[in-house]
Amino acid sequence: MATLSLDEARDLASKALEAQGFSNEQAQAIARTIAKAERDGCESHGLFRVPFYVKALAHPQTNAKARPVLSELSSSIVRVDGARGFCPLALETGLPALEEKAKANGIAALVINNSYNIAALWPEVEELAVRGLVAMAFTCANAYVAPAGGTKPLYGTNPMAFAWPRRGKPPLVFDQASSSSARGEIQLHARDGKPIPEGWAIDAEGNPTTDPEAALLGAQLTFGGYKGAAIALMVELLAGALIGDLFSYQSTERDKFGSGAPFGGEFIIAINPATTASAGSCEDIVATDSNTHAEQLFERLLSQEGTRLPGSRRVAVREQTAANGTTIPDSLYETITGYLQG
Ligand code: NDP
Repeated sequence: MATLSLDEARDLASKALEAQGFSNEQAQAIARTIAKAERDGCESHGLFRVPFYVKALAHPQTNAKARPVLSELSSSIVRVDGARGFCPLALETGLPALEEKAKANGIAALVINNSYNIAALWPEVEELAVRGLVAMAFTCANAYVAPAGGTKPLYGTNPMAFAWPRRGKPPLVFDQASSSSARGEIQLHARDGKPIPEGWAIDAEGNPTTDPEAALLGAQLTFGGYKGAAIALMVELLAGALIGDLFSYQSTERDKFGSGAPFGGEFIIAINPATTASAGSCEDIVATDSNTHAEQLFERLLSQEGTRLPGSRRVAVREQTAANGTTIPDSLYETITGYLQG
């Protein structure tokens, strides 16, 4: 295993991506996202992703030097045209405007179009929550997941993320795929030669499988059966039809060059609790501000043994990685350093 400080991980990713043809701006934004994942112990979205970004350049329409363009669709909706580049720079371009609009109007949305997205969604919702906003984010992927009752891939792994601001504490954040697992987890099992848990996938013939290679050729399953499938469907509509962008199956059909990178949109909603909770309830058991009120729920939740708040694992890992750095397999380190030659 190779051990890297978080700064070294970010710089390695950035230099490798630039050597492979990404502009400095694109490479640095992607590298910041990768370094956050390494910092928080999210292996499937850390340096492991660098080869996926490089492979995405196989599509002739991928714009490794894209400069996202910010515009206003209405007084409360901003849009970033990702210009066929990658989502991290599009997000960095749009989030400050989304924050400003949400604080001015109480609620606002950010539409990102024309962008490749192979990252986790928690960084964007967490950033908004650190700034006092409740946030939700949705994106489609490629067709990997069978609809309830079906056996062929239709939906993406379609993550949705949610963040709630907490005074004096890191925000509460969850970020989950609508599939039983993220695709990156299956790819990690395949890389490490380990079987996947039952219930994650079916093979190309529609039979349940624990073989990660067979799963990657077959279809992933949603979490919670038809309930997860309903979430996957909602994400397709919110991050596809609602914002004029591709469904997961359309992203797959567009990818004629096997780049593997989902292309399309991301939809983010930000809400200012200072606006929505300002009038309060007539019930005097409801705390006067939303932060105090939410903390009552968290306290009640955490009083049960065996519970934790979503996001708390990542925050705990931060202290370890800040002190000890992060480790990656030698083979991955060699692949990434190999990119430095151009
Ligand atoms: P997980 O199932 O690992 O975790 C989902 C959420 O549940 C996390 O927020 C996690 O918090 C929380 N959680 C886990 N265990 C508990 C517990 N015991 N109590 C309370 N909360 C808990 O995530 P997925 O595998 O579904 O998704 C992984 C990532 O993949 C996501 O970040 C997602 O954005 C990304 N992804 C990206 C796609 C793309 O195309 N861009 C497609 C699909 C997924 P914690 O972090 O603290 O463990």
